[in-house]
Amino acid sequence: MSLNVAIVGSGPAGFYTAEALLKGEGAEVRIDIIDRLAAPFGLIRAGVAPDHQTTKRVAEAFERTALRDEVRYFGNVEVGGKVSLDELREIYDAVVLAVGAPFDHAMNIPGEDKRGVYGSAAFVGWYNGHPDLMSLDPDLDTEAVAVIGVGNVAIDVARVLVKTPQEMTSADLPDHAARAIQAAPITDVYVIGRRGPVEAKFTNVELREMGKLETCDPVVDPAQLPDTIGDGLDDRDARLKARNLETLHEFAERGPGQKAKRVHFVFYASPVEVLGGDRVEGLRLERTRLEDGRAVGTGDYFEIDCGLVVPSIGYRSVAVEGAPFDERACIVPNDDGRVAEGLYAVGWIKRGPSGVIASNRPDGVAVAAHIRADLGAGAKPGREALEKLLAERQVRVVSYADWQKIDAAEVAAATPPAPRRKFVTLKDMLAVLDG
Ligand SMILES: Cc1cc2nc3c(=O)[nH]c(=O)nc-3n(C[C@H](O)[C@H](O)[C@H](O)COP(=O)(O)OP(=O)(O)OC[C@H]3O[C@@H](n4cnc5c(N)ncnc54)[C@H](O)[C@@H]3O)c2cc1C
Repeated sequence: MSLNVAIVGSGPAGFYTAEALLKGEGAEVRIDIIDRLAAPFGLIRAGVAPDHQTTKRVAEAFERTALRDEVRYFGNVEVGGKVSLDELREIYDAVVLAVGAPFDHAMNIPGEDKRGVYGSAAFVGWYNGHPDLMSLDPDLDTEAVAVIGVGNVAIDVARVLVKTPQEMTSADLPDHAARAIQAAPITDVYVIGRRGPVEAKFTNVELREMGKLETCDPVVDPAQLPDTIGDGLDDRDARLKARNLETLHEFAERGPGQKAKRVHFVFYASPVEVLGGDRVEGLRLERTRLEDGRAVGTGDYFEIDCGLVVPSIGYRSVAVEGAPFDERACIVPNDDGRVAEGLYAVGWIKRGPSGVIASNRPDGVAVAAHIRADLGAGAKPGREALEKLLAERQVRVVSYADWQKIDAAEVAAATPPAPRRKFVTLKDMLAVLDG
């Protein structure tokens, strides 16, 4: 009997798992990929920056997997909502959790509940057209923005806020976000790190891009840049850090520049309070110094006037009802992806929010191997039982063929070179299907 596997989540981790299961040897496998959204691909659609279309092309490989006879896509089906995890575990031989880490960590500083503070999970979801975040409606009526964090997501946010409409013509920034960002009077974005330039997490391509923008200069204080990266890093890390440091030195040597906008890199600064009334008016920070690689406060404070604060300090998962959850680590506790009998986890829910798209592949490969080793052949009904259950509950399932129609409508509605004009609500997506 074929092995019936349900994968909950259609992001990279879910698709890499499906791909690996299909490649594995042994019993025939049938894979149902279930996502709470109508549109597949998780953060490839809702996280990766709208002007980084090349990165999003990995979805083409995932599409080939989705179109395999053995695979079925169940979009618009929330596990924990329309169907429970316990029900899935009764129906399927194996259930793989690939639900990601969609929420922001709090900064835990006074004032972070003010209007104008939006964590990057929410803010990026908003500008990428995630249906859950359309009501965020951020107030961008400010000249200055503080982005807290020195990883690629922080750089993405800064770049999207300062690029010109011409620089975004090949992007799939949805209409609502394009209108709001292009109307905003933003001239200065501060990208703030608690530690120094060597500890910053951004990759060099993303950092260098900040030096090539049409109307925005990178601003770096040379006094914050060490001459060398120091000792103790492995070769790969050392190369990356050395390149970043070199790029930052180049930026510093250019001086403040003449362009209309600026992205300021501010290192050794820890936010301690968001200032203002109901709305953000500034950010108070404490200068730090490094001790054994950790940032410690110096007791010296300064303020940045800004009307928008975007903490980009990490993502967190939430518990899926019916699965164990480690509240401290914010992951499903697992042994190399094994969670319990017939239950597995991959991607950000398994190991936390780290790494690039391809970092999720090894998770999928490992769990696919475990499923085959643990279960051999299948014993449960799988797909037909899920279809019956969803029909009884009158759930409007969006199939992969449905998604292809929505996708085609998005592509057809775009003004080239923009690749697509995104639908940002379920209602608009279903309207395509209902003619
Ligand atoms: C802002 C941002 C930008 C990034 N940019 C890049 C980049 O440029 N290049 C790069 O290589 N990596 C990038 N990454 C990293 C990359 O996106 C992640 O490594 C990857 O998406 C994690 O995969 P995942 O499958 O674990 O989670 P996700 O991609 O988040 O997928 C999880 C899926 O599960 C679904 N889901 C959640 N809960 C349920 C439920 N209860 N029932 C059904 N479905 C559910 C979600 O709708 C989603 O589709 C970026 C990450 C972020 C946050």
